[in-house]
Amino acid sequence: MVLVYIEIHQGEIKKSGLEAICFAAQIAKLKSSPLTALVLSNSDSLAGLGNYGVQNVLVANQNIDGSDSQNLCSLISQVAEKNQANYIVLSNSSIGKSVAGRLAVRLNRPLVSGVNTILEEGGKLIFRKSVYSGKASAYYTSKNDKAIIALSPNSISPSKSGDSNATVSSVEIAVQPSKIKLLDRNLVKGKIPLAEADTVVSAGRGMKEPGNWGMIEELADLIGASTACSRPVADIGWRPHHEHVGQTGIAIKPNLYIAIGISGAIQHLAGVNSSRKIIVINKDPEAPFFKAADYGICGDLFEVVPKLNEAIRKFKSSNS
Ligand SMILES: Cc1cc2nc3c(=O)[nH]c(=O)nc-3n(C[C@H](O)[C@H](O)[C@H](O)COP(=O)(O)OP(=O)(O)OC[C@H]3O[C@@H](n4cnc5c(N)ncnc54)[C@H](O)[C@@H]3O)c2cc1C
Repeated sequence: MVLVYIEIHQGEIKKSGLEAICFAAQIAKLKSSPLTALVLSNSDSLAGLGNYGVQNVLVANQNIDGSDSQNLCSLISQVAEKNQANYIVLSNSSIGKSVAGRLAVRLNRPLVSGVNTILEEGGKLIFRKSVYSGKASAYYTSKNDKAIIALSPNSISPSKSGDSNATVSSVEIAVQPSKIKLLDRNLVKGKIPLAEADTVVSAGRGMKEPGNWGMIEELADLIGASTACSRPVADIGWRPHHEHVGQTGIAIKPNLYIAIGISGAIQHLAGVNSSRKIIVINKDPEAPFFKAADYGICGDLFEVVPKLNEAIRKFKSSNS
């Protein structure tokens, strides 16, 4: 059996959760195994997961905090053991990362984190992930066909694979008391989390000062993007730390990454060079970012970005 843990946010299955389901469905298909999904709260849409290859949905009918990795590990490991799950799939999100390692130890299983593709060779499943800041790929297989797989967000496009309903039932599991105490919760409101964003507008030190970020916010609003920044910008307090992308920040993989006034240092690229398309706006034709770009605009951002915003506004109003 293949078990997938789905993260829910405000009653909705997260995009990364749907991706994990579709990836788990690929494993289940290759192994001719049933696919079971585990969630923390019930909703009307759960039966519809049958369309994505899920046969059974188990709803943990107790108050487990989805941000408590100890409780989650206790729950998932017990469900996995009870149902003899060979593969356990979750998203490589911040909570997924902290649960996956615990699960690997608890269940004595190999863990492959940051997986982006699955292959099959002679009946063996092979999991691919990017390494060395996206410059190389590593391939992993499990000798005993049992593993924990943490899927990199935005690696696959979820699509329906059938037309059937999943069976939804509740599961009673006594989880071990957690040693984690939640002291405070500061949620970033109204924005798509960077790791899940499809489009990201990012800016760097070329912006000169924090007061100039209005045009970046405007561009992001116009195209429904999340905002990000380079590290120095977060370090000097121009932007919040949760926007910092790169080697020491968040690694992202959007469909479109627009980098404005960012030089493209190797440490920045490490977190963004898996983006499907990169657009760079920089006044320096020698800026290293142009080498990683799919499209580049060499010009002063204080001229280019307002013109771009104006053009998008016009385009949107003439097409509405
Ligand atoms: C161990 C380590 C880890 C690091 N981790 C990270 C990380 O995770 N993420 C990260 O981002 N950095 C990281 N850094 C820092 C990194 O090396 C760079 O210093 C940083 O990315 C540079 O930020 P920047 O491009 O915003 O600024 P700058 O290097 O100052 O570049 C500004 C860019 O803006 C352009 N510009 C200026 N004015 C304009 C204008 N008017 N119009 C258009 N373009 C303009 C310039 O041509 C320049 O290319 C790390 C460094 C180290 C040593």
